[in-house]
Amino acid sequence: MIKDEILSVVRNVADFPKPGILFKDITPILQDPALSERLLDALAAAVPADVNAIAGIESRGFLFGLPLAMRLGLPFIPIRKSGKLPYETVAYSYELEYGHATIEMHADALERGHKVLIHDDLLATGGTAKAAAELVIKVGGQVAGFSFILGLESLNGMHDLTVYSRNITILAPC
Ligand code: AMP
Repeated sequence: MIKDEILSVVRNVADFPKPGILFKDITPILQDPALSERLLDALAAAVPADVNAIAGIESRGFLFGLPLAMRLGLPFIPIRKSGKLPYETVAYSYELEYGHATIEMHADALERGHKVLIHDDLLATGGTAKAAAELVIKVGGQVAGFSFILGLESLNGMHDLTVYSRNITILAPC
């Protein structure tokens, strides 16, 4: 199963980037092109047929987000941290445990009414994916679902996302 394949190679790195965080390192997946292909197959199979675009969240959401969009023949929309996108942007700010963060999307990235699937490598609290969903709505799009490679079950991040879409794929809950 793809879940077991993913979990067998993902590396847990303690106290990165700060003490108390157990970081899930997906780089061993990237070193295995055959596994990466199977992972992409699983992500692609979970994308509803009426999706118009894939949005990937900086930066690890780009790793499989763009190949996923290419596989499905769909546009890819990068969602980036504040100040990284060069053209006219729309921004959404959200609260973190300490302080706040802002993410942005190009203002012309998406046609009004288009259905967008939001992709990232990992779902933790869900704050980042929720902010991405708000950004999609702000530019006139619809949230068609979410997909993640990993999901930290103890944090129950899915809860806040179901108001946007019930189509939430987590290949390897852990
Ligand atoms: P959250 O907004 O809490 O759901 O956090 C999700 C974002 O933070 C994703 O972009 C992840 O890449 C990153 N992230 C959060 N926790 C971890 C973790 N334990 N290991 C790796 N990445 C993480």
